[in-house]
Amino acid sequence: MDLAYTEAEEEFRAGLRRWLRTVLPTLPPKPAPEDWPARRRYDCGWQRMLYDAGYAGLHWPAEAGGQGATPTQHLIFLEETERAGAPYVGAGFVGLLHAGPTIIAEGTAGQRARWLPPILRGEQVWCQGFSEPEAGSDLAALRTRAVRDGDHYLVTGSKIWTSHAEVADWCELLVRTDADAPKHRGISWLALPMDAPGVTVRPLRTLAGTAEFAEVFLDEVPVPVANRVGAENDGWRVTMVTLSFERGTAFVGEVVACRRVLGELARTARANGRWDDPVLRRRLGRLAADFTALWRLTQWNVSEAQHSGGGVPGVGGSVFKLRYAQVRQELYDAAAAVLGPQALDADHPWTADRLSSLSYTIAAGTTQIQRNIVAERILGLPKGR
Ligand SMILES: Cc1cc2nc3c(=O)[nH]c(=O)nc-3n(C[C@H](O)[C@H](O)[C@H](O)COP(=O)(O)OP(=O)(O)OC[C@H]3O[C@@H](n4cnc5c(N)ncnc54)[C@H](O)[C@@H]3O)c2cc1C
Repeated sequence: MDLAYTEAEEEFRAGLRRWLRTVLPTLPPKPAPEDWPARRRYDCGWQRMLYDAGYAGLHWPAEAGGQGATPTQHLIFLEETERAGAPYVGAGFVGLLHAGPTIIAEGTAGQRARWLPPILRGEQVWCQGFSEPEAGSDLAALRTRAVRDGDHYLVTGSKIWTSHAEVADWCELLVRTDADAPKHRGISWLALPMDAPGVTVRPLRTLAGTAEFAEVFLDEVPVPVANRVGAENDGWRVTMVTLSFERGTAFVGEVVACRRVLGELARTARANGRWDDPVLRRRLGRLAADFTALWRLTQWNVSEAQHSGGGVPGVGGSVFKLRYAQVRQELYDAAAAVLGPQALDADHPWTADRLSSLSYTIAAGTTQIQRNIVAERILGLPKGR
């Protein structure tokens, strides 16, 4: 694998820089973190600008409405947008980073034509209805059932920790379509319209103070059979595709953002005198090395996915997710050390980020579960009980 950038890739970078310099000053101010409807409008507006400029779905294949760019161009896009302080994917996270890619990999031509263009244009926000009470790490224990009724399923059950559910139009939903089959074999992957009758969303407030996710209750919700992605009862396999995108590539843009924060920590420490502490300087230096290593791991994962065909990331995503969750928390612990007593100021942006960094141990599969995957599927250790 060659990690150096080609001339064409550097040209792509220069063009993107020019475009960012022109459009970023025209953006409206960022909405307040707790105002999800405004955040949805802001994130969708940014996505529309990317679409109009030919930067939406950069590494999605052209037949899926994307730009067919190389994975390296996509990484350059992440680097440059972050460097320029452009908005993050935000409410578009699920649609752009794992529901859309799953539909590309597993959907029919009709499903791709129906859902992918509006995701790319920033017209549709998706959420993820996987977790349930008692079915998080043991996801295949899910109990939400879908009973066939002609050309519809009637879906009944409940989901929890559904990020962005309050402002979502669609939900990638896991349901049990065969209660008698072994638990991994009776599951299907459905696209649920969030405005269907029988859907109730109840927001949950997080430690960081925002209602980022919600409980979703489903009472005999009619979902067309045509909304099933993959075969009936083959949803576990489709789910593994979704999770490999979620763990393997969805968070990589954040690594670049963390490197920027690290630079700000060093600048703040120099300004407030804490830079004189050699222990703190060593800590920041180690973090710089950790984020460089994570970025290299990302490049390796992306390159492997490309070479293995299909562009679906492999179990390397679990190594990334495991390490990223740890290093992100170490970054914000270091931020608290740099800030000193100011770290208790609830209005400081690093305080909220420090609180929310704790959730990375859990979101997208807990650290313990990633360790199990690494142990069993990469290191070949025997399966635990
Ligand atoms: C910020 C955030 C956003 C989220 N967004 C979404 C979303 O949009 N959609 C969605 O569907 N879900 C979402 N989740 C839910 C998340 O995926 C689950 O919380 C996670 O998978 C863990 O499941 P659980 O909460 O049921 O914990 P449990 O599975 O009950 O785990 C409890 C503890 O036991 C450990 N444990 C369980 N089984 C094992 C095992 N076999 N070996 C070792 N340790 C084990 C776990 O690691 C954990 O420490 C989100 C979570 C967070 C924090």
